[in-house]
Amino acid sequence: MNMKLDHIVLKQINGVSALKEGELHAFGISNVRELLEYYPFRYEDYRLRSLTEVKDGDKITVQAKIMGIPVLQRYGKKSRLTCKLMADEWMFTATWFNRHFLKDQLTAGREIIVSGKWDGKRMQLTASDAEFPDKGTTRSGTLQPVYSVGGKITQSWMRKTINQALQQFGEMIPELLPQQLIRKYSLIPRKQAIAAIHRPQDNREGQEARRRMVFEELFLFQLKMQAFRALNRGKMNGVVHTADNATIREFVRSLPFELTDAQKKVELEILHDMRSSNCMNRLLQGDVGSGKTVIAAIALFATVRSGFQGALMVPTEILAEQHTRSLQRLFEPFGITVALLTGSVTGRKRKDLLASLQMGLIDIVVGTHALIQEDVYFRQLGLVVTDEQHRFGVNQRSVLRRKGYNPDVLTMTATPIPRTLAITAFGDMDVSTISERPKGRIPISTYWVKHDKMDRVLGFISREVNQGRQAYLICPLIEESDKLDVQNAIDLHIQMQQAFPDFKVGLLHGRMTAAEKEEVMRLFYANEIQLLVSTTVVEVGVDVPNATLMVIMDADRFGLSQLHQLRGRVGRGEHASYCVLIADPKSEVGQERMKAMTETDDGFEVARRDLELRGPGDFFGTKQSGLPEFRLADMVADFEVLEQAREDAVSLIQDSSFWTSPIYEGLRDYLQQEQIFQGDLID
Ligand code: ADP
Ligand code: MG
Repeated sequence: MNMKLDHIVLKQINGVSALKEGELHAFGISNVRELLEYYPFRYEDYRLRSLTEVKDGDKITVQAKIMGIPVLQRYGKKSRLTCKLMADEWMFTATWFNRHFLKDQLTAGREIIVSGKWDGKRMQLTASDAEFPDKGTTRSGTLQPVYSVGGKITQSWMRKTINQALQQFGEMIPELLPQQLIRKYSLIPRKQAIAAIHRPQDNREGQEARRRMVFEELFLFQLKMQAFRALNRGKMNGVVHTADNATIREFVRSLPFELTDAQKKVELEILHDMRSSNCMNRLLQGDVGSGKTVIAAIALFATVRSGFQGALMVPTEILAEQHTRSLQRLFEPFGITVALLTGSVTGRKRKDLLASLQMGLIDIVVGTHALIQEDVYFRQLGLVVTDEQHRFGVNQRSVLRRKGYNPDVLTMTATPIPRTLAITAFGDMDVSTISERPKGRIPISTYWVKHDKMDRVLGFISREVNQGRQAYLICPLIEESDKLDVQNAIDLHIQMQQAFPDFKVGLLHGRMTAAEKEEVMRLFYANEIQLLVSTTVVEVGVDVPNATLMVIMDADRFGLSQLHQLRGRVGRGEHASYCVLIADPKSEVGQERMKAMTETDDGFEVARRDLELRGPGDFFGTKQSGLPEFRLADMVADFEVLEQAREDAVSLIQDSSFWTSPIYEGLRDYLQQEQIFQGDLID
């Protein structure tokens, strides 16, 4: 029996016609293996219950005795059949709709098993069906799998067919996990697990089966990741950065503050990668305000002092300008040149800049996606940093990287991805985490109020500004829309100018020109604007430590991670900061989301709550996340398993016999075919 289940066509299963085979293809099932791995998404519970323990509204199955004569009422084509039954000494009425054919089988004294919805007050069961023990039962007493079906494929046909496939081919299901792991975690064999997933005898067996398959799924995923990394490690001849420690220390000492311990730790991790000949591919994650920019600055400094150029790519012009300014300030004493390249740099100016860059006269270039245009050349690109990576499209990062010869890559994200998710999503990257904010920061207090409290919010704004602070007011829309009844920035700007004649109120949105935006931001940085009415153009990266109040209009219009990003614009200095969410969400989930924001200002916790409320797909936004989809594993619930699986995968791969083992043979096809492994996962 050397035949692989992959090669067995569906028609080999008794009862599967060519027609049905075609219909199964629509579900992505084209061979016996795929059918056997078509798992149910839930179970219907037909296990027998006792009426003494059931609750009102429960869907239950009970065995009972028929106590009377059935009564059938017909209404045209519809019918209602009732009968007195007794179970556990309790008399109750069972009612079936449109099951008139059952009537003749309901003979007094006969045993019956009925399933349906229980109403304890009226001692009544609204039954969906019935089975009779004297004729043999198939469903009663079991957990029945529920598959995703449709078209001509019905639930009962699917159950029957998978059962049949298990009977014919179940013995051929191969084991995929190494024996040592099966022993280590006392996992049940794969064949048993797959059979039990389709027809668990009881909860325990179902759980054991799931535990085994979840581990397998996560382990094989991690194994692919780690195998890929191991294969590429030796191959890649990355840039070797040679700047010595003393030089870098000098720069670090010139910073206006001392690095936090968390920053020191990631700094070492990054410099270590940069000095080695491996190609660095590192994700730096840290909550908003944790101080990632300065880490990028140190890395960029190191590349310049090693004789290379550095590039920093950011998603918005506002951020590009801000980073250029702050890097210029930090690097000026060291004679390092920093240039800005965005879409607004054009003509002569752009030409000169590109020429200088190509000649190596510019050490560091900061920019938006303007950096990845075709005519941008570097003399010797040593390090590519992307800030706010989640904002970039799938290909943009890799284009930038190809502008050098295997430059080191540092990817920064403030999207607070719980560590385990990061490891999963970026399984072939190294992950550094800044786990604490700079000392002396006061946690941001967050309030959620309804629209009718706007007067008090205005009072709050006035108080903060009168104390010398600044505030943001964020709107979902730029201008009035007849489709959406939400606050728009242009109208609110006018209202605020009227409400606060003594303050300078600024307006910022995406439809202004770059020069206009720059001017408004300059005034806001300089505290010549105290109140900034804006759209989400300030969502990422903007750093004005004197701003202490963030007011978000129609906050329920934004995602949780977006709200957290917006909130992160305040709480960046020594003053206490506040975030006020103004929203009247109708739905329960909407209210939960607002509550979640008020309960924590820890980005990891926000992300976790968001995952719970929305599911991971949504959180990361479309397919760009590169987040794998698992069949059984749940990234939130199975966190620990994922980490465990990763450790096991790492140690298996370190064992040299792995590369000649059947398990590696099985992975090899995958490693070659899957596109994600050609560059790096996030590209
Ligand atoms: P983010 O991680 O959100 O990009 P930034 O790099 O913009 O955060 O840093 C937020 C603010 O904290 C900035 O004003 C920065 O100058 C300041 N900062 C960074 N590191 C420290 C530190 N170790 N001590 C004090 N302030 C710091
Ligand atoms: Mg930042």
